[in-house]
Amino acid sequence: MRFFPLGIAGHVDHGKTSLVKALTSIDTDRLPEEKRRGMSIDIGFAFLDFPEKNLRVEIIDLPGHERFVKNAICGLAPVWGLLLVVDVGEGVMPQTVEHLRLAKSFVLRELVLALTKIDRVDAQIVELAKEEALDMLASEGMEAFGVFPVSALKGEGLEKLKAGIGEYANKHIRDRDKHLFRFFVDSAFSVKGYGTVVRGSCVSGSVAEGDVLILEPLGRPCRVRRMQNHGVFVKEGRAGERLALNIPDLEPKEVERGYFLVKGIKASNRLIVKIEGQIPKGVSYLFLGMREVSFLHRHMHEDFYLLRLSEAVPAVRGDRGPVLSSSGKHVGSYEVVHPLPVRSSKMFIRENLSLLLEHPEEYLLLERATRGLSLEELFSFYGLKVQPPKYPKVGGKFYHPELLKGLSERLRSLLSMKGGAVPLSEALSKLKVSQDLLGLILEKSGDLKVVEGYLLDTKRARLEELEGYRQLMNLLSEGIREERELHPYREHLSLAVRRGKVYSLGEYLYVSKDMFEEYVKRLKGLGREFTIQQAKETLGLTRKYLIPLLEHMDRLGITRREGERRVFLR
Ligand code: GDP
Ligand code: MG
Repeated sequence: MRFFPLGIAGHVDHGKTSLVKALTSIDTDRLPEEKRRGMSIDIGFAFLDFPEKNLRVEIIDLPGHERFVKNAICGLAPVWGLLLVVDVGEGVMPQTVEHLRLAKSFVLRELVLALTKIDRVDAQIVELAKEEALDMLASEGMEAFGVFPVSALKGEGLEKLKAGIGEYANKHIRDRDKHLFRFFVDSAFSVKGYGTVVRGSCVSGSVAEGDVLILEPLGRPCRVRRMQNHGVFVKEGRAGERLALNIPDLEPKEVERGYFLVKGIKASNRLIVKIEGQIPKGVSYLFLGMREVSFLHRHMHEDFYLLRLSEAVPAVRGDRGPVLSSSGKHVGSYEVVHPLPVRSSKMFIRENLSLLLEHPEEYLLLERATRGLSLEELFSFYGLKVQPPKYPKVGGKFYHPELLKGLSERLRSLLSMKGGAVPLSEALSKLKVSQDLLGLILEKSGDLKVVEGYLLDTKRARLEELEGYRQLMNLLSEGIREERELHPYREHLSLAVRRGKVYSLGEYLYVSKDMFEEYVKRLKGLGREFTIQQAKETLGLTRKYLIPLLEHMDRLGITRREGERRVFLR
């Protein structure tokens, strides 16, 4: 089954609720107060099936009274189409226009027009009301998909209207099943034996029993146990569908109207938006979905603004909605061009705005720079699992090729300042990059390499040029040294040992190749063989150093031990 959420809008008492009841036999005025006052206060829900089209139209009945404009916005937020109701006797009234303008900020341009209560007037008046309504639509830049004169009281025109709604839904149905799951919550309550039930509209993606969702803005994970569509259990919910989700992990009192349930969509309290209309100075309000959030704005360029919201919202690129002044007046509308900005510099945003509009992935890579862009962030940006971008990638993150080039240049200039070699840790912290990213830079650079904890320019670097190496060799030129004395140069030491410039004597002792050869030369001065006592006097070494030295000579086949004496073999 496919689902199409349709809003029913229009001035108070123009017959919206009666029309929904006539079409669906469902009374959407369910609150006792609505019954008593004979007026819709909150949004109401019903559905109209078109089995031959495999389609269910999910109807949301908006309250028309000016006092409940915010409830009307909540009703419009999840819909993909609008049925505008005009009472032929009264004609276009203030909330007719207001609903229309709000619908426009949610990007609905074509609607179905129902002229109601035709049983009360003659045909000429119906014709006049039709002209007036169509003029008004035109002046608001809207179009009628069809005009349907009806009487809910007499049942006139209802079949035609219903057929019209079916065709309209077919035309405007949105393909949102492949998008990431996002759900606008309109209420939560507790049901005996089940626990908490969260009711609302699935505006994109799908949800199945057992799915783990995040409740925003609380950032709270929770698991769906079961779900219903209009009182019937279903295994899976889809885009456009009204759902009651049984989520025992949540308490009804922690869930508010306007909250979101999402899968894979990150919330942010900064948005880059395009604004239509004038936003007043200071605090203003916007509706993202059914959530009203206050914000401060900074002008970036032309119609583009950076908004700082009072709370994080899980927005995606292309989201639209109304902007209200602090007194609740509808002053304009916004369109999200960047739901997850990490840079708020006006200069950066201005300079790269056309990139953001035309090549958003490149913009994301630029602004994220060395921290890289993950696929999850990209999917969240669009609210859709798009094709992975064709950019250099390492450790699950994508990087801008220009960034890699810039970093590689900085690395080269750092290396040339340091004589062709820099300790790896220093290179990482100077460039503020991860080891993964450094690896990617080296991969692209060819002649830069990591050797023994050092970053080397293989065209320039020689071991002898390393400052630490010089200091190490200085120390070792004075004699045998213990490992702890050489600790500050441990990286150079292992390099020097591997390159045969320094010998390890065991027992945590080291001697330079030059010193070692000097010792051997002096011992050779004693003849073909010598005693330990003779060696001690000649070299001036304690037994602690001498014995390992002589044993090393044995190991290298220079001498052989014969009792208390050593004999030179070569
Ligand atoms: P809403 O505020 O737009 O939801 O309007 P309602 O559906 O509550 O209707 C307002 C009033 O108009 C009620 O008293 C209805 O009985 C009356 N009404 C609604 N539809 C018709 C109709 O087709 N013909 C006549 N004569 N009255 C109607
Ligand atoms: Mg009503």
